[in-house]
Amino acid sequence: MSSDEIGELAQQFNLMAEALNNIEQTRRRLLADVSHEFKTPLTTIKGYIEGLQDGVIVDTEATYNLIYVEASRLQRLVHDLQLLAQAEAGTPTDAHYPCDIIQVLQTSITRLQSQFEAKSIVIQPDFPATIPQIQADSQRLEQVFINLLGNALQYTPQNGKVQIKLAQVDAALRITIQDTGIGIPTENLQLIFQRFYRVDESRARVSGGSGIGLTIAQHIVEAHGGRIWAQSGGLGLGSTFTVELPIPPTS
Ligand code: ADP
Repeated sequence: MSSDEIGELAQQFNLMAEALNNIEQTRRRLLADVSHEFKTPLTTIKGYIEGLQDGVIVDTEATYNLIYVEASRLQRLVHDLQLLAQAEAGTPTDAHYPCDIIQVLQTSITRLQSQFEAKSIVIQPDFPATIPQIQADSQRLEQVFINLLGNALQYTPQNGKVQIKLAQVDAALRITIQDTGIGIPTENLQLIFQRFYRVDESRARVSGGSGIGLTIAQHIVEAHGGRIWAQSGGLGLGSTFTVELPIPPTS
């Protein structure tokens, strides 16, 4: 082996060691994040139960409701983590069925329709009459759009508006979901796709967001060979989420 080859081997070895180190760091961070997320609701539930046992807290309906809310938060967290694990596992073979994106978008809207109505937020779909079929896992894509529409619903005040546009842009389908909600500061636009990241920790905790929805959405979109990104004029100026999915060459 020449000294060049040895040098190259050493370089490859270092790259591999670095990659393993990154995996280990990600694993540690995930464990720390998950423990942190579980800690608050568990501490609250335990505190209330101890208070009830000692008679320091009165056993009113409001007390039981508070315990119920925290337990529900834990349940939702477990559910989201299961979805995240599934999305991270990636199984790209699922992504190869003919998929009618208009159908996917309409199903996602229907699932949230009554919640939009309850908040008097108007949903405005803008779909072309025909659009090429793509290869995708419809159920997973529904999960993406339910997450995005669910966020638009959550972060848009009453009487707001959410527009959903679908268009073909070159060899891709582009779906944009634009809301008139609270917006996202520019410096947070990239970070919101990281797991457990919330722009406003206290407000998201109150509203029950786990900070995992966009991470799951990004995994699913990328498993389909697509991309997802967020834009916003800033706080109070609404947000726009865009998903691009490739159209197979034969379509
Ligand atoms: P969460 O369950 O907290 O909504 P997500 O991963 O779906 O988690 O979103 C991460 C964070 O991105 C949210 O906590 C919120 O701060 C911000 N965000 C997402 N969608 C919107 C939106 N449409 N308008 C304003 N902020 C948003």
